[in-house]
Amino acid sequence: MNPMDPRASIKDLLRHGRLRELLEVAAQLHGHYCAGLAFGVQAGYAGLKRLGFDNTGMEELLAVVECNNCFVDGVQMSTGCSLGNNALIYKDLGKTAVTILSRKTNGAVRIALKAGGWQGENASDKQKEAGELFRRVVKERQDDPEAARRMRELFRELSFETVEKSEDDLFEIREAAPEFPEYAPIMDSARCSRCGEEFMETKGSSPEGEPVCLQCAQADCYAVLGRGICMLKKGVW
Ligand SMILES: [Zn+2]
Ligand SMILES: [Zn+2]
Repeated sequence: MNPMDPRASIKDLLRHGRLRELLEVAAQLHGHYCAGLAFGVQAGYAGLKRLGFDNTGMEELLAVVECNNCFVDGVQMSTGCSLGNNALIYKDLGKTAVTILSRKTNGAVRIALKAGGWQGENASDKQKEAGELFRRVVKERQDDPEAARRMRELFRELSFETVEKSEDDLFEIREAAPEFPEYAPIMDSARCSRCGEEFMETKGSSPEGEPVCLQCAQADCYAVLGRGICMLKKGVW
């Protein structure tokens, strides 16, 4: 264990293409096994293989994801680009795709799941059974513990089968223009004159010269919900 590189063991798995073990690590974050998570692990790996495995989480490597589903947790774990280190950028396009950019090598590659990748015409019996259980347990929220258990079991098996597949079977992979967004700006904090909490100074107002946070001002704000980026009127769902 290299004390200066907390991701050393993950990079080791990446360098050796040990995707099954990477999937296990990703599932620690994600909470369950599923094909989406496996797609994300493999997409991140496909990108890093082309752009380099070194990444210290300081925005030298960026992952621009186009959805906010299970796929993204796989991408976050395999690339080390996360919401918190500002290297994960979310474009609200609803596509299972990611563009990975490297400032170090000035390269970029977009990896998109092929059409029918989630459950196409060629779905196996196992995928069909899992899909049917997903409909009942997740979509319709039916309270059926046995169905939920069986779904988790099938999802787990399918996720490990997924990481065994070749990237060309799963994805369209192409070079992309290495166009980089700005580095995350470092902002000062202001202190809200009403609630006393500190906030990023650009995230408030100062009606009478006194800083007020968006919550106390009951202002509109954005949030990422399951359905994507939403404007919350007066901060209410
Ligand atoms: Zn999932
Ligand atoms: Zn306040």
